[in-house]
Amino acid sequence: MPNIILLGPPGAGKGTQAKRLEDERGMVQLSTGDMLRAARTSGTEMGKKVAEIMDKGQLVTDEIVIGLIEEKLTQGASAGFIFDGFPRTLKQADALGALLLRTGQRLDAVIELVVDDTALVARIVTRADEARAAGLPVRADDNPEVFADRLREYYKKTAPLAGYYYAKGDLEQIDGMAAVDTVAASIAKVLDKA
Ligand code: AMP
Repeated sequence: MPNIILLGPPGAGKGTQAKRLEDERGMVQLSTGDMLRAARTSGTEMGKKVAEIMDKGQLVTDEIVIGLIEEKLTQGASAGFIFDGFPRTLKQADALGALLLRTGQRLDAVIELVVDDTALVARIVTRADEARAAGLPVRADDNPEVFADRLREYYKKTAPLAGYYYAKGDLEQIDGMAAVDTVAASIAKVLDKA
């Protein structure tokens, strides 16, 4: 089963598509955002530090997230991993490449969800409103102010990864503004030829 990276700014729909791939193909979502949210509720010193950084919309250190991913990758092969929200820096991308090599796995595709910034802010507000309406906890970083910082971090540190993977011949760009089902179908097409 293929290993893929879902690349795209916050709110692009990476998590939604990763969940579908889990349900439909039995792939395993590795979301560093989810892992970090779990760490922050643990009450440890590391958790407290992580919470502070996340609430500001900044990136936590490469060492922390690489450590989290390493733990998962060395737990053995799977039905294919979906890297969601990782890598977010060139250093993380290099580390992932080395880890896959070391564990005898390969990267099959990097799928970039290409989206429009203005629409993203609206999406994030909707995501917070929906969670509130459903009585679910609202992510502290899902508000327009912190979102602007998250987006800046994305363009500064993560967007260059599109060029990095393009140069390796791994990049597949799809329209992330299309309906959820249409995006899923585009991803399926990439996976079926991987
Ligand atoms: P996400 O759920 O992917 O939007 O991530 C939420 C927050 O967790 C981000 O704004 C960062 O503070 C942190 N985070 C998640 N993944 C990473 C990563 N790969 N590198 C650094 N920070 C991360």
